[in-house]
Amino acid sequence: MEDKREILKRYFGYADFRTGQEPLIDGILAGRDVFGIMPTGAGKSLCYQVPALMLDGITLVISPLISLMQDQVRSLISSGVRAAFFNSTLTPRQYAIALERAKAYQYQIIYVAPERLESPGFLEFAHSVRIPFVSVDEAHCVSQWGQDFRPSYLKIREFVESLAVRPIVGAFTATATAQVRRDVVELLGLRSPVIQATGFDRANLRFEVIQPRDKYAELLRLLRESGDASGIVYCATRKGVEDVCTRLQAEGIAATRYHAGLSEDERRRNQEDFIFDRAPVMVATNAFGMGIDKPDVRYVIHFNMPKNLESYYQEAGRAGRDGDPARCVLLYHGQDVQLNRFLIARSNEEAELDDKTRGEVLEKELDRLRQMTFYSTTSRCLRQFLLRYFGEDAPEYCGNCSSCLKSEAIDVTDQARKLLECVRQSGERFGLRFISLLARGGEEAAMDPRVRRGHLEEIPAFGSLSDSSDQLLMDILHQLLAMGCLVQTEGDYPVIQLGEKAQEVLSGRESVQIRAMGKRPPRAAAKGRSTEKEEPQGEMDPELYSELKKLRARIAGVQGVPAYVVFPDAVLRRMSIAKPKTRDDLLKIPGIGMAKAEKYGERFLALINRTA
Ligand code: ADP
Ligand code: ZN
Repeated sequence: MEDKREILKRYFGYADFRTGQEPLIDGILAGRDVFGIMPTGAGKSLCYQVPALMLDGITLVISPLISLMQDQVRSLISSGVRAAFFNSTLTPRQYAIALERAKAYQYQIIYVAPERLESPGFLEFAHSVRIPFVSVDEAHCVSQWGQDFRPSYLKIREFVESLAVRPIVGAFTATATAQVRRDVVELLGLRSPVIQATGFDRANLRFEVIQPRDKYAELLRLLRESGDASGIVYCATRKGVEDVCTRLQAEGIAATRYHAGLSEDERRRNQEDFIFDRAPVMVATNAFGMGIDKPDVRYVIHFNMPKNLESYYQEAGRAGRDGDPARCVLLYHGQDVQLNRFLIARSNEEAELDDKTRGEVLEKELDRLRQMTFYSTTSRCLRQFLLRYFGEDAPEYCGNCSSCLKSEAIDVTDQARKLLECVRQSGERFGLRFISLLARGGEEAAMDPRVRRGHLEEIPAFGSLSDSSDQLLMDILHQLLAMGCLVQTEGDYPVIQLGEKAQEVLSGRESVQIRAMGKRPPRAAAKGRSTEKEEPQGEMDPELYSELKKLRARIAGVQGVPAYVVFPDAVLRRMSIAKPKTRDDLLKIPGIGMAKAEKYGERFLALINRTA
């Protein structure tokens, strides 16, 4: 049997797993339940798809979003996996045929909508085949505390336990507060699961706030900059959507629109135009987005500030699901605050609440609006602001937001290493200030009673940073805390100790940077998943890239699938850098497995050999 790495390469075209994937896959293969909490774009699907291809029998994937399910199945099929979906888009006849095939084990993976689990035809099938593994996508839907509660998710547990042999159960989600996590484990009946939580951060998203004098002119500039890439422009009101969309269309930009005031038919049509790249720009209210899973959205621009950061992060997060660089731009104007106050007050009045509750709700909403406004006006790192708001710590400097890009990063790896040494050599039993004092050394430090008592002037790190200021060293120490290189103990006299990540810095594998305020901006470098090891190096060829995109569009058009099902943007970009000449070269490109090389290889190679 092939091992998991061979599967990864053969079907998906990747040589390495990403952080978090391997422990989950290993868990599943060892027969354990698993629970993966990873941000969008982190690669959750592979965590259940790889084991599904190794286990004996049929893996069921329960997924609440029909469009997502169809995309995934199409991609799997084009990667050479025998996959199918059971949902309401199938006619009874198609469904009957699919069920027959499934009973004969013609599929390795079947995606099902949760409602199916209660239908007799499906149950009869499920009880007649081997189902080693059930994977629950968007697992937070089981919790009433979350935003997308789906009552039929509550039936999953019963279904799983009704099978002759209880399958392994995997749960996956991008969002889970502590409460939702408990619900997932309990309500899905996970049995001592392997849990992987990789945090909220989406490193490929660049957060930007712009305060333009003329929003519309700025929007035009941003859209022109983005070329023919696909993106969403969110406006606060229907009227806003109409205005902006009409103006853009008059400008010759292929924009379409979406809001609750349009007929269902028009909404569906416009949405499809967007998904199939016929109209790359979608102008919409926040009614747009639920259940849309277009992975190659390259930017989300907010024409108005939303009413809170929860909505903002959710809407902005629709950019870059494929893990490729994407921009999240907020166009801010003081008037947005007024507009939101008005919208909040109106919906508060309309809500059926008693006066006391009404007052409390209003207060809370206004408070969240204040936080949103702080975000829109801060000069600090935007990513840090967002992550802290959601209860996660983050470094002062991310290097990929409009605040960080405005200020220069100073590399302080050397000083950081000396500070870590200082913490270690002094026995991990002092606070931040004292470490700074020790590292600076000198007369003042030598006189300190704690230094004298412990003979700390004898450790090599004493005075190792004698020409640095206390302020600088404190900044670096805080950065090290945020990075997890240092941890602070709880209690009245917190001391700092070396954290898990310290070794990364000490060994030189990781560098440390802090932000110098008020300096000239460095050149804005787009930051994607720089961690991918096999990424081809070199300049990309924009002309070739655009030719590759055209070829992809033609193939997608003929097959009636969205472009990203043929190849994601990242793969085309890599092709335009690596310029593969042969089939073997092609297979070296991350994201191209055997089946896709077989299916599309020749046409792409021909194009590359012709142009390059
Ligand atoms: P999620 O479900 O977590 O939002 P996906 O499973 O859709 O994320 O994966 C996002 C992107 O990352 C996809 O384009 C996928 O092919 C890619 N990807 C997943 N795993 C890897 C890997 N090990 N190496 C490189 N790319 C990967
Ligand atoms: Zn930043």
